[in-house]
Amino acid sequence: MLTVICDTPGTLTAIDRPKPVPAEGEALVRIRRVGVCGTDLHIFTGNQPYLSYPRVMGHELSATVEEAPQGSRLAAGDTVSIIPYISCGHCDACLKGRTNCCRNIGVLGVHRDGGMTEYLCLPEEFLLKADGLSVDQAAMVEFLAIGAHAVARARGRAGDKVLIAGAGPIGLAVALFAKLEGAEVTLIDSRTDRLDFARRHLGIASTVLLGDGDVNQLSAITDGNFFDTVFDATGNPKAIERGFGFVAHAGTYVLVSIVASNISFSDPEFHKRETTLLGSRNATIEDFEHVMKAMRDGKVPDALVTHRMHLADVPDSFAGLTDPAAGVVKALVEVA
Ligand SMILES: [Zn+2]
Ligand SMILES: [Zn+2]
Repeated sequence: MLTVICDTPGTLTAIDRPKPVPAEGEALVRIRRVGVCGTDLHIFTGNQPYLSYPRVMGHELSATVEEAPQGSRLAAGDTVSIIPYISCGHCDACLKGRTNCCRNIGVLGVHRDGGMTEYLCLPEEFLLKADGLSVDQAAMVEFLAIGAHAVARARGRAGDKVLIAGAGPIGLAVALFAKLEGAEVTLIDSRTDRLDFARRHLGIASTVLLGDGDVNQLSAITDGNFFDTVFDATGNPKAIERGFGFVAHAGTYVLVSIVASNISFSDPEFHKRETTLLGSRNATIEDFEHVMKAMRDGKVPDALVTHRMHLADVPDSFAGLTDPAAGVVKALVEVA
């Protein structure tokens, strides 16, 4: 079967691998679409610190069931969305239902080989039936679930003023689900094209361009109070540190993006506000189901898919996605 492998940073090669055989309790699935995300671009450019090469990328996956295990709730032909966070099921986090931060987590396409291939075998608990969704939609559930999870973590209320820093795919996912919860959403980013996209396709009317005067704008939007909840989706340590100052008194700060460094903040400013600080990692099955329901209800715009390529063309075409001028929001790799 055709598989695209990242041998070393900057090199993607099409190879032929034997089709896998399912073990007990596993389903064999045929991959249909693979969403490309910032993590993949970092793996490709060599900026993913906890990863060994060679690696088959791909963790935003839809598939069709080819063979279901005995007594399964799945049947051959079902479209599924794959939960790529392979959790152990027995650590303390898993026992608390927090499989998204399992101590022994193995993420497809990061810690173990992922979906840029024709077939995978997976335990059936990581396959969610995507009835009523297209294979394109089913591949977009994962990145949207990261946004939905962050919004669920914040436990906001309708009418809250919410700021999202970073209008990349994850920031847009947070914006979409915060808006669906009834928040008044403002997005801040350094790229006008991304803010334009959010206005046009997600209906986010309030956008602020990073730069001189941005603090005054954020203050004006909130009558000087700043935001009930601030989400960071920038991947930038300086931006994360700056975001503490945009949280209202009694407000919440949710760190969605992860950076490989320490961050610091003023404790008097933090305490003065009685800030609630939260990390948000991956997503749970409930978040996946929440996203699928929003998709079935027609609340997720198809326009999020801006680029497409076939799996066989990935070695030649992938590097083009790293160019900001390409304006990629979500690229989908078509496998079958
Ligand atoms: Zn991703
Ligand atoms: Zn676990």
